[in-house]
Amino acid sequence: MTIAKYVIATIGLVSTFLVGKYVFRRKMRKRLLFMPFPEQWEEIVRRNVPLYNRLPVPLKEQLPGLVHIFLEEKKFEGCGGLKITDEIKVTIAAQACILLLNRKTACFRKLRTILVYPHTYVARTKSSNGIVTIDGHSVRLGESWQNGPVVLAWDSVTGGTFNVTDAGNVVLHEFAHQLDQEDGAADGAPILEHRSSYITWARVLSREYEALQRRSKRAVMDEYGATNPAEFFAVATETFFEKPGQMKKNHPELYDELKNYYKLDPAEWM
Ligand SMILES: [Zn+2]
Repeated sequence: MTIAKYVIATIGLVSTFLVGKYVFRRKMRKRLLFMPFPEQWEEIVRRNVPLYNRLPVPLKEQLPGLVHIFLEEKKFEGCGGLKITDEIKVTIAAQACILLLNRKTACFRKLRTILVYPHTYVARTKSSNGIVTIDGHSVRLGESWQNGPVVLAWDSVTGGTFNVTDAGNVVLHEFAHQLDQEDGAADGAPILEHRSSYITWARVLSREYEALQRRSKRAVMDEYGATNPAEFFAVATETFFEKPGQMKKNHPELYDELKNYYKLDPAEWM
């Protein structure tokens, strides 16, 4: 076989494999999308995800299918001796999938693995002032890697989800980062449905981000959102779902941008 024929044959095989994989995944998703929660999962979600109890019925009916797809496609790994249970998987997946309701998405397409630590964990950090690189340690509740895993501390997950009005929810936060990173940049601008939406998004979010940096408005959002635009979007997402009434009242334009993006109106669920 000549090299050209060999290359053509290899391309043919790879294409067939990829098309087959795509068709199989589509069929699988279609089947899973209409599956209800098993009774045990329903109990876990009712107990551990108060936000679920607020959802209007049509959204409550949408969520199980997304959770099934999430659990089929993502892998969970326990770290620091943590054994992964259905409770851990379903509690995390249900909250992550609330961000996908009402939207055509590929279910966090870049994400393959969720690492879960039992407690808040310590990560090694590197920073540089341009002259020296400093190694350090930082205490983390969770993190989201571009093209890599989401890392969560189970005690932060339970601490954040059980209080539904404190605007602190590490799962919503880290998975908002995943959405932001889907276009290859962690810049606080996820993929929007229409090109024309980016102009208003940039105008509103930059203004609100700068206001949070100046602390010029009564702070509804946690000031961690003033760290950079990516953190602003993640913290704004937490606030949108956990303090929707306050956000709508004090930051109506920001609320509207998030409402248009998530295609959800949590202020109406109160
Ligand atoms: Zn963050």
